[in-house]
Amino acid sequence: MERPMDCKQAQILSAPHILGDLDNDPLRCGQLEAHLLGCSECAQTYEDFQETIGFVLDHKAEFAQAFKKARAIEENAVPA
Ligand SMILES: [Zn+2]
Repeated sequence: MERPMDCKQAQILSAPHILGDLDNDPLRCGQLEAHLLGCSECAQTYEDFQETIGFVLDHKAEFAQAFKKARAIEENAVPA
């Protein structure tokens, strides 16, 4: 049986949906989209995620560089 999606589920699925990770799961995609249409709170959360994720994707190269540096520091800090 199909259950309507609750707010918690909708907010958990917002980021994967924006990233396209739900593309192979049209049922959950549809449920999420239906929930967002009827729930302004989750729609706001979704928008915030979209902004954050858009920012991260726009600065992907910089972030990758920063992660690389952080990892190198971490590896050097590990006792032999
Ligand atoms: Zn909601």
